[in-house]
Amino acid sequence: MKVLVLGGAGYIGSHTVYELITSGAEVVIIDSLETGHIKAVHPQAKFYKGDIRDRAFLDSVFEKEKGIDAAIHFAAYSLVGESMTNPLKYYENNMYGTMVLLQAMTAHGIDKIVFSSTAATYGEPERVPILETDKTFPTNTYGETKLSMEKMFKWTANATGLRYVSLRYFNACGAHTNGLIGEDHNPESHLIPIILQVPNGKRDSISVFGTDYDTPDGTCIRDYIHVLDLASAHILAAEYLMKGGESNIFNLGNGVGHSVKQVIETAEEATGLAIKTVYGDRRAGDPAVLIASSEKAKSVLGWKPKHDDLEEIISTAWNWHKNHPNGFEDK
Ligand code: UDP
Repeated sequence: MKVLVLGGAGYIGSHTVYELITSGAEVVIIDSLETGHIKAVHPQAKFYKGDIRDRAFLDSVFEKEKGIDAAIHFAAYSLVGESMTNPLKYYENNMYGTMVLLQAMTAHGIDKIVFSSTAATYGEPERVPILETDKTFPTNTYGETKLSMEKMFKWTANATGLRYVSLRYFNACGAHTNGLIGEDHNPESHLIPIILQVPNGKRDSISVFGTDYDTPDGTCIRDYIHVLDLASAHILAAEYLMKGGESNIFNLGNGVGHSVKQVIETAEEATGLAIKTVYGDRRAGDPAVLIASSEKAKSVLGWKPKHDDLEEIISTAWNWHKNHPNGFEDK
């Protein structure tokens, strides 16, 4: 299988590329390196630096790389807070970029795409666990653009021979067990890497955003899913499309919720170190509980998360962060 990975130098993209190459696939990466890291690029992947909004660039890659079986699309901005203060930045890269990508793919006969979507497409859930058929009503621009991208695939598929799989992830976390790649965002906004900055001596304490939610300990509950389990789902989704599977949408989570307090306590166990915690106000737009039902991915794709223990997940993240306190800037 020859796979084009858009955004293959990013967090989830780079892990997926490593797993694709282990599975024997030939991988071509396109990444602008605006948020991705050249050191996250697998040495056996063919790498092209460029922007998906640049049609001439995409055409030139597709001319050189004949025989691409499927694309996996991670190339998007993903900071919720920034998407609220600068929404048009998100429309331009996420939506316009995807439109140009689809135009180029259509022109070059690439007709299968796996798409990196998000639980943020649901917004405040009506119930948990969340099913793929539940209402989608995003509460931030990031989720809105991802939902609009899903719809762009839907209508393009309707008009052409394109088939797509959209994967709605819950809270991606952890690092590759090989210790070579991990999470490195600038600025870092996700809970687990921020917690691990405390034992790493990069920050004094972790702030818990809100203690008055309607949950057993008052802090928000999320469904944490290991990045390697996300990677395996992308490969299964590409294989599903290769076998003729119809366009589809799947949630990806463990189906188990952990509160912010539980994540901090588990990080203390995984690191063996005390983590200073301060309790602050709620962060705007945070739903109290987000938990996935991933039964559909399990039954249709045959997906089975392997790293479903939170302490194990955090241990893989800690293994990366303690050896790379400055992320990919470290040797
Ligand atoms: N959170 C927190 N302190 C932080 C960062 C995050 O308490 O410094 C909480 C956040 O409010 C949410 C959970 O941790 O309830 C997960 O947040 P994250 O940003 O990692 O992912 P999200 O669920 O927003 O996609």
